[in-house]
Amino acid sequence: MSAGCSVCGAATPATDPSSQCAHCGSVTWLARGDGRIQLGVRVDGTRGDKPFNALLPIAHGEAMLRADAARGTSGRSGSSLLGATGVGCAAAFAAALLLGLCIWMAVHFGHC
Ligand SMILES: [Zn+2]
Repeated sequence: MSAGCSVCGAATPATDPSSQCAHCGSVTWLARGDGRIQLGVRVDGTRGDKPFNALLPIAHGEAMLRADAARGTSGRSGSSLLGATGVGCAAAFAAALLLGLCIWMAVHFGHC
């Protein structure tokens, strides 16, 4: 399984200084503070013996790659994701926080 450009699926190494895909020229990285994030990842390969090709939010793709790596089913874990691991964790944490806030709001205002 590999991950890369959200448009053409080419690898987008974290070490590549360009913010554009070398293959198709679409924007693959966005500057965010000190670092940069990837818009999304195209994941392709096989999962459970079935061909798999999907465009995923980076946190989702990352979680999937990690799960696959943990199961030992992934031949190649997405090296292009390594540079964005911290961002992915932060995004997942923020999403969880937001979800918690939504639930609190629903409970708080639900019985007024
Ligand atoms: Zn591309």
